[in-house]
Amino acid sequence: MRAMVFRAPGQPLEAIEMPVPAPGPGQLLLEVKACGVCRTDLHLLDGEVAIAAPPRVLGHQIVGEVVGEGRRVGVPWLGWTCGECDYCRSGRENLCPRALFTGCDIDGGFAEHAVADARYCFPIPPGYPDEQAAPLLCAGLIGHRALRMCGDAARIGFYGFGAAAHILVQVAVAEGREVFAFTRAGDAEGQAFARQLGAAWAGASGESPPEVLDAAVIFAPVGDLVPAALAAVAPGGTVVCGGIHMSDIPTFPYELLWGERTLRSVANLTRRDGEELLELAPRVPVETEVTTYPLGAANEALADLRAGRFVGAAVVVPGAG
Ligand SMILES: [Zn+2]
Ligand SMILES: [Zn+2]
Repeated sequence: MRAMVFRAPGQPLEAIEMPVPAPGPGQLLLEVKACGVCRTDLHLLDGEVAIAAPPRVLGHQIVGEVVGEGRRVGVPWLGWTCGECDYCRSGRENLCPRALFTGCDIDGGFAEHAVADARYCFPIPPGYPDEQAAPLLCAGLIGHRALRMCGDAARIGFYGFGAAAHILVQVAVAEGREVFAFTRAGDAEGQAFARQLGAAWAGASGESPPEVLDAAVIFAPVGDLVPAALAAVAPGGTVVCGGIHMSDIPTFPYELLWGERTLRSVANLTRRDGEELLELAPRVPVETEVTTYPLGAANEALADLRAGRFVGAAVVVPGAG
């Protein structure tokens, strides 16, 4: 089969031919129909998040068809957990120290086939075409977990309006919240896209929102946004860092945290997060905006993500050539 593999940080993915993987006990063999591209893939490419044993097929938002069965399943970032540690036994498998992650520790979906542990796969809601469903599997799931960390906040800021925010703005608005979208300065297209999806306000990340916020989620991997978001939330508010990696956070006066503000991160996902979001998405209904790329163009998809050349999410479609 054809696959795009990571060999070392700083190098583009390499197109190779490799054997179709053989499913082990409890694993499903999938024909990959679509696989979403995530900012985490850029952190892996850049060596900001380490891949222990390259070469590795990246891609952790897989919509696949089970070979021989025809049913569709989704494969997320969380690929395996030990089931025995304190975290696993207390509903926090996202923090399992032995967890294995798809497209990082396990070969992922930038390939024609993949294998996945059936216990970590989700059924795909029937109304979603393959490429529309793919961004739900990381951007959607981890964004959903981040949004839940905001509690019942009525006014929420999203810093960085990419794949995750474009899904979660729809969920938040359906829940009756107001969303304030912060983009890179001068990104008029991104700001218009946020307003079109229901954001009450959209502006540059350096701007003050028109109202004080109850919570904020930082999706962009930019540490400078942490003090900016803390300054924008009211006493008692929460700032959630939604990414796996962020540039260093500058020092800031304690006054920004004072007033019982909470600053926290969100790490990975639990299977329960996935079940919740995939049940919720068709009821909102969440519609995803995707730009598709054939398998051989995975590096272009990653470059376009880095440069902010599309709105919504990028999805690799192996069957497209
Ligand atoms: Zn564990
Ligand atoms: Zn991801």
